[in-house]
Amino acid sequence: MAPINLLMIEDYYDHFEIFRQSLLLQRDFEFTVTHASTLAQADQILDDKRIDAIILDVNLPDSRGWSTVEHVVSRAPTVPVILNTATSDKEFAARALHAGVQDFITKGEYDPRLLGRLIRHAIERQQLLVQLSEAKQREHDLAIHDQLTGLLNRKAIAEVAANVIALARRTDSRVAVLFIDLDGFKIVNDCEGHQVGDAVLIETARRIRARLRESDYIFRVGGDEFVCLLRDTNRTNNVDLVAQQIIESINAPINMDGRDHFVGASIGISFFPDDSTDFDQLIQYADTAMYAAKEGGRNQFQYYDDQMQTASQRRLTQERELRHALSNRELQVYYQPIVDSATGKLAACEALMRWSHPKHGWLAASAFIDMAEESGLIFDIDEFVLREAVAQYDKWKAAGVDVPSIHVNISARDFMRPDFVTRVQRIVARSAHAPTWLELELTENSLMEFSNRTLNHILRLQDMGVRVSIDDFGMGYSSLYRLKRHPINTLKIDRSFISDLVRNQHDQAIVRAIVTLAKCMSMKVVAEGVETVEQVRLLNEFDCHLMQGYYYGKPMQNDQLSLIAQGSGFAAQLALH
Ligand code: C2E
Ligand code: MG
Ligand code: MG
Repeated sequence: MAPINLLMIEDYYDHFEIFRQSLLLQRDFEFTVTHASTLAQADQILDDKRIDAIILDVNLPDSRGWSTVEHVVSRAPTVPVILNTATSDKEFAARALHAGVQDFITKGEYDPRLLGRLIRHAIERQQLLVQLSEAKQREHDLAIHDQLTGLLNRKAIAEVAANVIALARRTDSRVAVLFIDLDGFKIVNDCEGHQVGDAVLIETARRIRARLRESDYIFRVGGDEFVCLLRDTNRTNNVDLVAQQIIESINAPINMDGRDHFVGASIGISFFPDDSTDFDQLIQYADTAMYAAKEGGRNQFQYYDDQMQTASQRRLTQERELRHALSNRELQVYYQPIVDSATGKLAACEALMRWSHPKHGWLAASAFIDMAEESGLIFDIDEFVLREAVAQYDKWKAAGVDVPSIHVNISARDFMRPDFVTRVQRIVARSAHAPTWLELELTENSLMEFSNRTLNHILRLQDMGVRVSIDDFGMGYSSLYRLKRHPINTLKIDRSFISDLVRNQHDQAIVRAIVTLAKCMSMKVVAEGVETVEQVRLLNEFDCHLMQGYYYGKPMQNDQLSLIAQGSGFAAQLALH
């Protein structure tokens, strides 16, 4: 066994010598002892040498009494200290034990044979205490840290915020609270699995941290939610910059196993003391502003203002109401004609969700589809619309009404789910007819990631006879490369290129290009949002004949669409203009 290294701090050499002799009597343990006659000397030795225990006389040439105890205990917090005093002052001893000293012996009164055991026990007790406090520290660290990202968690916020705010009060400075929520993370997590989701979160956390100063704080407060506290901020300039940089850095693709994954971020910001002096309130305001940022189109930041509170409350109520609407038959499917302008005949129709709201009347899908996506209610909505469309097609068929095709919108989140095709299969199997009449409209975002799965889904759908179109084409992020990789049947040109088509030459160039592209790749092309006869004429000129828009008809109930399908078509209508 290695010898136990003692340091004896003692100004009388005689006392040291007596102690050293006593140590020689010890049979069970081997000791070495170094002597320091002043506190300064002791400090030097503690720097140079591993010491297992300290024997301390408190009255030294350079320090006396209690301050000696304090100095040594704080200087070597893990080394056991045994006081070696001239008199047995019980009160002093008790106070010293309380301060972290392990034991004490009175000069000339201790039993030299038991000295070794006494020192060993002091060392063991100290080791236990050190282990215990390390374990406690670890436990505390675990409790306030998020295991995945290593960031502080929700539990840590209150304590940290109290300190940050107290400091801001004292220095009369401002604190910005940033509430960050990732856009599109749920898709990654649902579709690529939790391992990829976890890796995306870790990388995102790293990117946010990299944008902050050392003195700022970041917490992970929920699945894909983070809170940052920025100290000493000015109302606008530097917070603007930080928020913008965070968004940009999160937007950059995250490459994993050779594939790019994309997420975005919406950020809400509130300020101490401007918006509130209460931290819970500040967090709630930042959260509210974050929702406003999402509603404003995502990938942006918003400062809290008093008008917003109602918006977030409205949102919560709306979500509850929509849930209720689904089970209460307040949702109805409308159908909008898609017309072939060359023949004037109905080529297809698009199923669009409408909500007969008990208070607000009929609501178009655009009023609630984002909220449905966010809350996950979109899965139920898509399934509901698909069932309705299947039933409606059978009814039209049975009644001899010729509606060649029904388009059904599918949310990207829904489409990416591994069991998507199986679910479609189950639903269309209820019909007497093969689903060659069905066309699913995907957004460009559906093609953005996980292309192996999307490709697989598209091919399996087409095997069943179902066609696939890209909705709102030109608005999203899809590249021509992705378009080439996926066997799409139809491109639907986004309304934004049509609305100003007649006056805007750039829009004309884009529409022409999309039509040519579609033709070359053997895809059909539909112009969305056609409202005027001039638009119809121009589109005809561009050789784009499938059109959808108010010009031919707004979304309508099924019986109205039956009339159009059975009528004489739209050619006459166009001729009138
Ligand atoms: P979308 O698929 O691009 O549908 C076309 C939207 O444009 C519809 O809005 C339609 O009412 C509107 N629209 C059609 N023609 C015109 C026009 O000439 N002028 C103007 N200004 N608007 C026109 P709506 O019904 O509010 O739907 C908005 C979006 O919500 C849809 O865009 C679609 O992406 C989504 N959506 C609708 N129903 C469903 C559904 O059942 N499931 C899913 N996942 N999404 C749906
Ligand atoms: Mg659509
Ligand atoms: Mg569209």
